[in-house]
Amino acid sequence: MQKYIIMGVQGSGKGTQAKLLQDDYELVHISVGDIFRWNVQNYTKLGARIKRMIAAGQLVPDDVVAEVVKSRLEQHDWNYGFVLDGFPRNHTQAEFFLESYDIDAVILIDVPDEVVSARILARRLCSACGLDYNLIYHRPSTPGICDVCQGRLVSRSDDTPEVVRARIDDYHTKTQPIIDLFRRKELVVVADGTRPALAVQQQIRDMLALDRPITAAAHTKNGSSGGALVMAPAGPSGTVMQLR
Ligand SMILES: [Zn+2]
Repeated sequence: MQKYIIMGVQGSGKGTQAKLLQDDYELVHISVGDIFRWNVQNYTKLGARIKRMIAAGQLVPDDVVAEVVKSRLEQHDWNYGFVLDGFPRNHTQAEFFLESYDIDAVILIDVPDEVVSARILARRLCSACGLDYNLIYHRPSTPGICDVCQGRLVSRSDDTPEVVRARIDDYHTKTQPIIDLFRRKELVVVADGTRPALAVQQQIRDMLALDRPITAAAHTKNGSSGGALVMAPAGPSGTVMQLR
């Protein structure tokens, strides 16, 4: 059984990396962001709570995140292990989590702030059908126009340089104490997230002594560069993305 935590700023490609591990090792990718999005889209009680908090400009409190992760892990559908994404949120949770689960490694996807910022600012979405584009990895064939429905491509309202800068700073402030703790426990492996997605995945597997080949056909259709698929999962509103 392999139990990993994956960490990286929004736009680092950690979702793609977790999915590649999931596919070849049958590890369950437990993504807090995906769980929240699912709950919002399916109008659950939790989804309503999350929506209210976002509408009020609040972040989902750490204890709610802990609750969600705990109940997800208690489903015990992870016979071969898991890749946990979006948790722990603070030092206390990290300590408690390490005591409860025997974590094998913490995978840190390292991407310089300016690279991540450029990736996020290159995101566009179709104002008509909601399809995601990225001017670095996944351009439309006609600039500004959706390939599928000819709708107009727009940026998310919260993808301005100032807001992105603030999100990245916030990420560092919150995660540094957790990363420090994991480092002291000698759990951290660092992957160079500026490289193409499959190269990043290979580096992760080498560091973790995982020797299965990457079977990634489904993941590379947008080209091999790092962030192409990272940007994909947000809904047209984009609001839930702030939870990451
Ligand atoms: Zn469209």
